[in-house]
Amino acid sequence: LSERLGGVFDRLTKQGALSEEDVKTALREVRVALLEADVSLPVARDFVKKVQDQATGQSVTKSVTPGQQVVKIVHDALVEVLRGEGEPGALKVDNPPAPILMVGLQGSGKTTTTGKLAKRLKDKDGKRVLMASLDIYRPAAMQQLQVLGQQIGVDVLPIVAGETAVQIAKRAKTQASLGGYDVYMLDTAGRLQIDQTLMKEVEDVRDVVNPRETLLVVDGLTGQVAVEVAEEFDAKIGISGVVLTRMDGDGRGGAALSMRAVTGKPIKYVGLGEKMDALETFEPERVAGRILGMGDIVALVEKAQETIEAEQAERMMRRFKKGQFNMNDLKMQLEQMLKMGGMESIMGMMPGMGKMAAQVKEAGFDDTILKRQIALIQSMTKMERANPQILQASRKKRIAAGAGMDVSELNKLLKMQRQMADMMKKMGKMGKGGMLKQAMK
Ligand code: GDP
Ligand code: MG
Repeated sequence: LSERLGGVFDRLTKQGALSEEDVKTALREVRVALLEADVSLPVARDFVKKVQDQATGQSVTKSVTPGQQVVKIVHDALVEVLRGEGEPGALKVDNPPAPILMVGLQGSGKTTTTGKLAKRLKDKDGKRVLMASLDIYRPAAMQQLQVLGQQIGVDVLPIVAGETAVQIAKRAKTQASLGGYDVYMLDTAGRLQIDQTLMKEVEDVRDVVNPRETLLVVDGLTGQVAVEVAEEFDAKIGISGVVLTRMDGDGRGGAALSMRAVTGKPIKYVGLGEKMDALETFEPERVAGRILGMGDIVALVEKAQETIEAEQAERMMRRFKKGQFNMNDLKMQLEQMLKMGGMESIMGMMPGMGKMAAQVKEAGFDDTILKRQIALIQSMTKMERANPQILQASRKKRIAAGAGMDVSELNKLLKMQRQMADMMKKMGKMGKGGMLKQAMK
């Protein structure tokens, strides 16, 4: 992808902002890349359209090309879709014994993943786990789970010949209660393709145990098929999450994106090999980089953006030293504070601000107040922001009303801006006239 995009991007103009043409050209290539990574066509189409709206008009960071910038935007959008809500890897296993139902096609890695997850629950979360195989069609499958259990030190429900899947599930449930287990995992039988007998069987098991988690295990290399499987299982059984296996292979992981887009269910883990510890919580950044196949470019753009921010900060400092500190500056500072986790911590770090930090704390400042202050500044006109000294009663009234607040709150904000401007000036003088020159003498 890198090379192909490179060619296209070389032809792109290097203007300050991404034009619609720039974006379209780059996204055509991105769409192909998505399809090559096994993302299903409708998902790729929707996704590209969303990004197109988002990217057009964004400014281009200096040291990267518009095309690289688009890739970064695409990457971030991918991460957002992939991440979804909730904490990755967190399973609902409270209220013991908690049943976990493992479903999926044959060969997708259900049995292996059952073992990996059991080990993880035991080692990381200190849970007592019982595993049971419901694969009555292949005796070898039951043996496989027994062997895994021994290997990782997790109990396995003894095999009883001639039982149905539902009977085994009931026995597992009883045994889990009696034996004081925290979790019991049911490894169901798979088929090479979805078939209704299998679905019915899994439905019956589900109704017997009422699982806390129903995890669909999907082969990450299967791409398109994976999406159909996910849709079908979700519709019939109702899944709570997905585990993508074989992500150690050279598949591009496009299935992950399709599955998120189609089912909306979180991807909880990825399987990275055959060994029992080759299971990791799902990291959207990694998979996004893999789908695009250009992690290096994303890093480059991020770096460039950091540099720009540093340059901006330096320019600002030069102005502050001259006592120029208007509402735009204050707004930027407030936003920065929001980003960096609150007023108190920031002021504590700034020289000469210790006292103010204490006052801030006393006044009960928190993020809500930062947001309210930003809202006030937002309801000022451009001229007012640049020259806050022009604010008279009528303007104040309008601004406060615009932000849905009292004039007294605006007055506090103005006072703060004046104090900051003052202090900046003092600090500037100190730096210029004072210490350095003194030292040189
Ligand atoms: P099941 O039929 O769904 O129970 O699938 P199995 O758990 O028996 O796995 C089928 C094959 O895939 C076995 O050889 C596993 O070792 C292998 N396998 C499972 N997960 C992974 C994985 O994440 N990476 C790799 N490389 N192989 C895996
Ligand atoms: Mg199996």
